[in-house]
Amino acid sequence: MGLAELKALKKKKKKKKLKKSAGRGGGGGGGGVSPLRPLYVEKTPPCIAECPAGNNIRGWLKIVQNTEKLDRSWEESYEMAWHEISKYSPLPGVCGRVCPHPCEGACNRKEKDSAVSINAFERFLGDYGIEHKLDHIKLNDELAGKKVAIVGAGPAGLTCAQQLARRGASVTIFEGFPETGGMLRYGIPPYRLPRNILDAEVDAIARMGVDIQCNTIIGKDKSLDDVKAEFDATFIGIGAHEGLKLRLEGEEAPNVWSGAGFLHDVNSGNAPDIGDAAVIIGGGNSAIDAARVAKRLGAKTTILYRRTREEMPAIAHEIDSAIEEEIDLQYLTAPIGVKLEGGRAVAVQCLRMELGEPDDSGRRRPVPIDGSEFEVPCTALIPAISQRPVFRDVDQYIEGRNWLQPNETWAVDDGVFAGGDAVNLDLVTTAVGHGRKAAEYVADYLLERKPVRPPAPPLVKTDKMRLDHYEEVERNDRAWVPIAERFGGDAMTLEVDLGINEDQFKAESLRCMSCGLCFQCEKCWMYCQSACVLKGEPGEPYSFKLDTCDGCKKCAEECPCGYVDLQ
Ligand code: FAD
Repeated sequence: MGLAELKALKKKKKKKKLKKSAGRGGGGGGGGVSPLRPLYVEKTPPCIAECPAGNNIRGWLKIVQNTEKLDRSWEESYEMAWHEISKYSPLPGVCGRVCPHPCEGACNRKEKDSAVSINAFERFLGDYGIEHKLDHIKLNDELAGKKVAIVGAGPAGLTCAQQLARRGASVTIFEGFPETGGMLRYGIPPYRLPRNILDAEVDAIARMGVDIQCNTIIGKDKSLDDVKAEFDATFIGIGAHEGLKLRLEGEEAPNVWSGAGFLHDVNSGNAPDIGDAAVIIGGGNSAIDAARVAKRLGAKTTILYRRTREEMPAIAHEIDSAIEEEIDLQYLTAPIGVKLEGGRAVAVQCLRMELGEPDDSGRRRPVPIDGSEFEVPCTALIPAISQRPVFRDVDQYIEGRNWLQPNETWAVDDGVFAGGDAVNLDLVTTAVGHGRKAAEYVADYLLERKPVRPPAPPLVKTDKMRLDHYEEVERNDRAWVPIAERFGGDAMTLEVDLGINEDQFKAESLRCMSCGLCFQCEKCWMYCQSACVLKGEPGEPYSFKLDTCDGCKKCAEECPCGYVDLQ
């Protein structure tokens, strides 16, 4: 609605008010009087519903969106928004780079023009926090004097530590590797996640007083029983670092590495000599990362995958990047043998496949085509088919072939909690969510408090919204380093994602439609003929005073963001 239209509506409203004393019938053509009464009800927007970390995405976008309206400086808003993120996650700079952003896939704005650039927005805020060395704010001191051990400094453990430190606990992280980050450091390559970003976000956690002890493997350097005896509660976030084998003869050759092992070596600064023809097997994130790393080490690189692009579990954008970087992706190809010469792998023997019926995972089963054998020559073979956890001292918590199986309070035992990839291989944002939720239950456990988790407000979709209220605005996408410039001497560390600039960041905040929460657009107030809408303080949601309401429903019909219910 334009300004002129709004003014005209206000005038009309004044006139109607005057008439009202003489009796009125229904407001603004809203369908006449009814017994229904409006109620403001906050809803859950799809971005938040789909975020495994549970981030208050609408919250951060609106803080920035309201900057001028509420007479704040941009810096004040950026800082506030960073602190809003920090309530749920200590890793916005990390997630703003590597998260496949299911939030954007669900964004209601897609039905207007295109999703808000939430992931790039998060990255900008994360970087702002790093640049200004922002500190996480303490929530309270309720866990003062309580000692909690965290096993594993991956995103699950780091988040659990940060969330417990926010509540005043004394937290120690035991990490087996020389450095923190888990798969963020030893899996994801630096051209996707620069190490200064990871280091800075870990440093902000350490500045909360969290003690991080690297080179300490629980189950080897210290037993889990000793940890349990020394601490009031323990969180296990050990991830999954053992690469699975193809179980083919020849796999023990010295030029065959698992995806996880290969990436670990390269990311630790010990890149092996892979020659000039690397063959990667698999379709997940490890396979794509191993291939893009092999390419950066100078090898002609081929990925063999037994299904099609559609079934590939890797993040879609990563697959696109591999293709753009001229990695040869051969679909419907399964390895059946490793050809050795002089004890080294020189080729992968393969069979062509076709897709049959869906298997237990719902993906169509690859079926071999008889007589389709062929070979792909290689100087390095990297099966990157999956990973599993290395379990030490935790056997009693593993049931059959399952991994760690926490209950609904994330506990695997009295005072022992678990989360992240060791429960189920997934994403960084999922590990962050597990770490935070587990920390909340650890707090309940330590305080002998009954866990109370109010249900999330109902979801709001566009059928409850008025998309015509919002103007079409082009989305601001992040920029990328051109392919031709990615393969110089610093190829491994040159970040390929350039993010969005400050103007684009501000513009994206304005594109948020505030689904399910009042953004003071005045529509309900404007259309109400009975003066039932009370405007609150600037930036605060409105309220109703319904004495004179005749149930015309107009407020609900006109609310753009689906905040008004009728009952
Ligand atoms: P991890 O990150 O694995 O951390 C576990 C930590 O525990 C490790 O540091 C390990 O050394 C430590 N540990 C293990 N055992 C012990 C012990 N006994 N004592 C002490 N310490 C121990 N997700 C995304 O969202 N986006 C991506 O782009 C992406 N890319 C990926 C690329 C690769 C190659 C891989 C392998 C995964 C990728 N993922 C991605 C998935 C993501 O990295 C994981 O889901 C996430 O790191 C899991 O976090 P975590 O804390 O559970 O475990």
